[in-house]
Amino acid sequence: MKLLENQTAIVTGASRGIGTGIALLLAEHGANVAFTYLSSETKAKELEAAIHAKGVKAKAYHSDASDYKASEQLVTDMLAEFGKVDILVNNAGITKDGLLMRMSEEQFDAVIKANLKSVFNMSKAIQRPMLKERKGSIINITSVVGIRGNAGQANYAASKAGIIGFTKSVALELGSRNIRCNAVAPGFIETEMTAALDEKVVAQWRESIPLKRGGTPEDVANAVLFLASGLSTYITGQVLQVCGGMLT
Ligand code: NAP
Repeated sequence: MKLLENQTAIVTGASRGIGTGIALLLAEHGANVAFTYLSSETKAKELEAAIHAKGVKAKAYHSDASDYKASEQLVTDMLAEFGKVDILVNNAGITKDGLLMRMSEEQFDAVIKANLKSVFNMSKAIQRPMLKERKGSIINITSVVGIRGNAGQANYAASKAGIIGFTKSVALELGSRNIRCNAVAPGFIETEMTAALDEKVVAQWRESIPLKRGGTPEDVANAVLFLASGLSTYITGQVLQVCGGMLT
């Protein structure tokens, strides 16, 4: 059964990893998909073709989610192309890890801007078209690290905890207009982001997971699909953990 027929989604940062998994699954369920990338142009073009092959509309946009004006322009451009937007997935994110003792101001600011400000930028830009439709689902990708913290990731944890507060506030503000806002908190998902981690840290993460494996982009995409679809129409302001039971 296709869950998103005649729906249009925007996914930020879909050129790699979890974003790619989300964009492909939404398309498989019949959604037209606009998505963004920052530097991985070849992968973005490949994804555009792969989505197209599923029989839905697809377009890759080079757009920096951390840039307020660029986000406004993106929504204007995608509306001109797709006509409407039903689903926003704020997935774009970066890490710049280091212990507080060594963390620079630049490292802190860059992560807050890319991970948290981007969610504000895109939600703000999408608000008006969704209000017009009196319908929408915003899904923000946070992290278990935003709930429990993580040594060496104070900047990242702060950005992801910020996303949770933002999500709950937007859910309160826009619920009466039938616009839902939820967050998905992945645990340890095996992508290029986690491939950069030290092997010892990776082993510790795996050992701490009750399901004894890292997650896949598809594991996260399934949760996003649920929150994007009509299966979750009475769910808003929630944080759905996709972490193999890491946080119980
Ligand atoms: P990834 O493999 O590093 O991919 C990140 C994606 O975000 C890339 O497509 C990148 O685009 C894009 N991106 C980065 N900054 C951007 C910006 N300013 N504007 C637009 N796009 C931008 O990361 P991932 O593991 O898939 O993570 C995706 C999301 O899940 C992130 O928010 C991350 O924090 C969250 N998450 C991941 C894990 C995990 O274990 N992997 C766990 C919890 C949460 P380009 O390649 O084109 O530059």
